[in-house]
Amino acid sequence: VHEDLRQKEKLAVIGQMAAAIGHEIRNPLSSLKGFTQLQQERDPNSNEYYPIMIQEIDRINSIVDDLMYLGKPKEIKFEKDSIEEIIAYTLSITQQQAERQGVTVVTLIAGPLPPIDCDEKQLKQVFINLIKNAIESMSNGGEIRVHVKVHEQKKMLIEIQDEGCGIEDEDILNLGEPFYTTKKDGTGLGLMVTNQIIQDHHGKLKIESTLGKGTQVNVTLPIKQGNY
Ligand code: ADP
Ligand code: MG
Repeated sequence: VHEDLRQKEKLAVIGQMAAAIGHEIRNPLSSLKGFTQLQQERDPNSNEYYPIMIQEIDRINSIVDDLMYLGKPKEIKFEKDSIEEIIAYTLSITQQQAERQGVTVVTLIAGPLPPIDCDEKQLKQVFINLIKNAIESMSNGGEIRVHVKVHEQKKMLIEIQDEGCGIEDEDILNLGEPFYTTKKDGTGLGLMVTNQIIQDHHGKLKIESTLGKGTQVNVTLPIKQGNY
């Protein structure tokens, strides 16, 4: 128990540091992106490097978002939001990456769906992390299925199923551990932050996987009684 506590304190300090660094990086990064876009518009010899530069800046941005969440997970603004819109936004953000890798995303919405109480920005980050992981697991392309439905009239259930490399049984336990990654340019922050945000929403994250076949990630989020 003592060790557990020390581990927690250590993580809290790392989290605060990560958030502080993330915060400092954010402003210069956003001006860098703005000027890159401006330069792209003005440059008569505009070329294919600009979109790559902007894309890489966006990648840093999403890492910074993950870092910033670690130090202050309680800053959540709950508002009524449409899960359909959140999923649609996520897919629009990840579409380019999916296309590049020959991945198609199929959504099945069992609507009409009630609104959920959530922090829209944080939930977008959750689904961007999960969809990106699914895409990154499918180096040979394939299909991702996203199902959204109400479960037993009291929970929103979002299932993300991929046809990727899958995860070894013994590695499932490592998921969400800080900095656990099997990718050469991974951060191992995505699932940790994802899990934290879902817990802050009083939801659940469940991951099942078969090596070589694919992975299914289930997110459940509470919906208010009487909403439906
Ligand atoms: P990162 O994506 O930076 O590696 P994450 O926390 O998002 O960090 O994921 C941690 C690890 O979990 C990944 O490196 C990968 O090994 C595994 N993983 C997560 N999602 C999937 C998935 N859909 N299919 C296969 N492996 C996955
Ligand atoms: Mg990831």
